[in-house]
Amino acid sequence: MSCPYTEQEIGAYLDGELDLTSSLQLERHLGTCEACSRALARQRALHEAIGEAGLRFRPSPELARNLRRASGAGLAAGRWASWPRLQAIAALLLVAVASWSLGRVWPPRPGPDLTDEVVASHVRSLLAGHPADVASTDRHTVKPWFTGKLDYSPVVVDLAGRGFPLTGGRLDYVGRHPVAALVYRADRHVINLFTWPDAYTSGGSGPGLAAASRQGFHVLHWSRAGMTYWTVSDASEESLRRFAGLLNSP
Ligand SMILES: [Zn+2]
Repeated sequence: MSCPYTEQEIGAYLDGELDLTSSLQLERHLGTCEACSRALARQRALHEAIGEAGLRFRPSPELARNLRRASGAGLAAGRWASWPRLQAIAALLLVAVASWSLGRVWPPRPGPDLTDEVVASHVRSLLAGHPADVASTDRHTVKPWFTGKLDYSPVVVDLAGRGFPLTGGRLDYVGRHPVAALVYRADRHVINLFTWPDAYTSGGSGPGLAAASRQGFHVLHWSRAGMTYWTVSDASEESLRRFAGLLNSP
């Protein structure tokens, strides 16, 4: 069986370095390819092990990547943990620990980039063809649907009169937590609004809007009354800012 992906590409995927289309293609492939799934699982396990070791010393992202890549024999060779590989890992670990011992301080790694996560969730919801698990324009239907599915109750606001009709909600998984995704529309554009308690992701950005864009999607992020909000859409930035402003007004 021939496989189009290399260990490097799987590593790049894990590092969030692939573009959206390539990521989605690889994810689709992972569903059907046991070798790549195993390679991903192994790289991820090592990634986590390095992360835990990072509590004691901080490997640079480049070193972390080298460690992961060193741990994987080429997919084509099909040798997963040959002795020379293990020696290479041991040598790299020694270098890492030695660097740490010398008091070298690497810059702290940033937390998981939620911007990428919410954009990926937004795109997946569109690709899946059903952005909502509960399809309703009535917030009195959407809000109770989350009861028992989450350990908090999302704030669901009706903005139909302001040009942003609610169309439903679904459960999603962001920042290692199940979260509420509320689906609105701005004309024909789908807007996803993710919301969860600030404590899930160690605080929000405060009441001000933080803006970003990825692959043509606009992302806004704010925090209000102990809840964190992220909204994503391919609607115009102006339109999305108006939407966020309505939710974030006193
Ligand atoms: Zn494969």
